[in-house]
Amino acid sequence: MAAGGKPFADVLIVGGGIMGSCTALFLSRLAPELSHRIKVVDKDLTFARSSTALSAASIRHQFSNPVNVRMSQFGTQFIKNLSFFCDRTAQQEREAAGNRNGDGVVFDGGIGFRETGYLFLATQKGKDVLRENNEVQTACGARISLLDSDRLNSKFPWVRQDPDGDGINSGSFGEEGEGSFDAYLLLQLIKKENMLRGIEYVQDEIMGGKLTENGDAVTGVAFRSSPLEMKSVGTVVNAAGAAGGRVAKFFGVNLPVVPRKRSVYAFSCPSEETVTGCPLTVLPCGTWFRREGKGFICGGSPPEGEEDPDVAPDDFDVHGDHFEERLWPSLAEAVPAFEALKVTHAWAGHYETCLLDHNAVIGRHPRVSNFISVCGFSGHGLQHGPAAGRAVAEEIVLGRQESLSLSCFGFDRVLEGRPLLERGIV
Ligand SMILES: Cc1cc2nc3c(=O)[nH]c(=O)nc-3n(C[C@H](O)[C@H](O)[C@H](O)COP(=O)(O)OP(=O)(O)OC[C@H]3O[C@@H](n4cnc5c(N)ncnc54)[C@H](O)[C@@H]3O)c2cc1C
Repeated sequence: MAAGGKPFADVLIVGGGIMGSCTALFLSRLAPELSHRIKVVDKDLTFARSSTALSAASIRHQFSNPVNVRMSQFGTQFIKNLSFFCDRTAQQEREAAGNRNGDGVVFDGGIGFRETGYLFLATQKGKDVLRENNEVQTACGARISLLDSDRLNSKFPWVRQDPDGDGINSGSFGEEGEGSFDAYLLLQLIKKENMLRGIEYVQDEIMGGKLTENGDAVTGVAFRSSPLEMKSVGTVVNAAGAAGGRVAKFFGVNLPVVPRKRSVYAFSCPSEETVTGCPLTVLPCGTWFRREGKGFICGGSPPEGEEDPDVAPDDFDVHGDHFEERLWPSLAEAVPAFEALKVTHAWAGHYETCLLDHNAVIGRHPRVSNFISVCGFSGHGLQHGPAAGRAVAEEIVLGRQESLSLSCFGFDRVLEGRPLLERGIV
């Protein structure tokens, strides 16, 4: 207990990546008086190995579950309106530029959102799934076009089609709200905004927790810097990303969230100018690629049914054979221009994989009443950070997720072993 009997923090957020930082931001926006009593603890405030910083930094509305579509739609609204959501930073920058009213200046925090869309490609076999998903997406108000073979050819002539065989013959393209941006700068912007609002970021690692005798609430948290001391906290928010399952265990909670390694490769190709207007393109086999600067980046998860092995928390070595054996053959088959290419660099990051169903676990634990989870986004969390953070903040301040209920992601489904279906996992 801190001096004067006050808790160390009323809300202790474990992890300052996109989930933790968005949760803190929406808490402060909803209840500004709480800001000085929120602490975001991260073992590495450079975020160098966070999933947020190592992601492909893209947002799409093309999911099969309406809740996931709506979360992404709010994600787009958030990144298009940063001067509203990060108003203190925007104002500070205007004042520094001697332009208090922001005349003629659009504040985007430098994140450079490029609204280039997502293109999901399909063979005859996958066409029906694209159509079914499209019905869900358009019912949510997303602007997604189905492209038959002719439309696909006229819009993206660089795709190799096989309309009469079992190759690619159709696609689904996001006309609005989808694209890529600089995820690291977005995170830095939200962190800066939070600090201007009085929220404290602490570099330390959570190493353990203490519960009441009957295990129904967290009473203390142990830090690496003072492992023998249990600091008292009001509410604990688990936003530890790929370490979410490990952190939950400290508080007696079983959360099936584990790290899974994903490698991203950057490449250039001699005829790259022919790949015009390249969206983030997802091939039927799951390989994806998109423009990055003058070249491209690509990656892909193991296909369903194939092993996706455990990975040590500090293993960030790029998969050695993945590009040559899996990615390049699929890239070259789908895009003739990629038959000749050169890998320029690569990195690996961790998906925070929810083993139950590749969807997030969001909300209060039914038994440990002051423990809230916001992790397990399994590779699509960057875009869902604002909606998830807002829901958690509303749950803490208002007692309910008011703007967009994410109750379907709650702990109940984990405890009951009831998976939530999402067909659009990449
Ligand atoms: C290669 C790759 C590509 C991706 N591409 C996309 C994409 O294009 N679009 C998209 O939406 N999503 C994408 N994702 C997923 C996305 O990056 C994640 O879903 C999202 O960033 C998760 O955010 P987070 O805040 O939960 O986790 P993180 O960003 O990992 O933050 C968690 C933080 O918790 C800290 N932490 C962990 N344990 C402790 C502890 N015990 N004590 C203190 N701090 C701790 C860590 O240091 C870390 O900073 C991708 C992920 C990867 C790996």
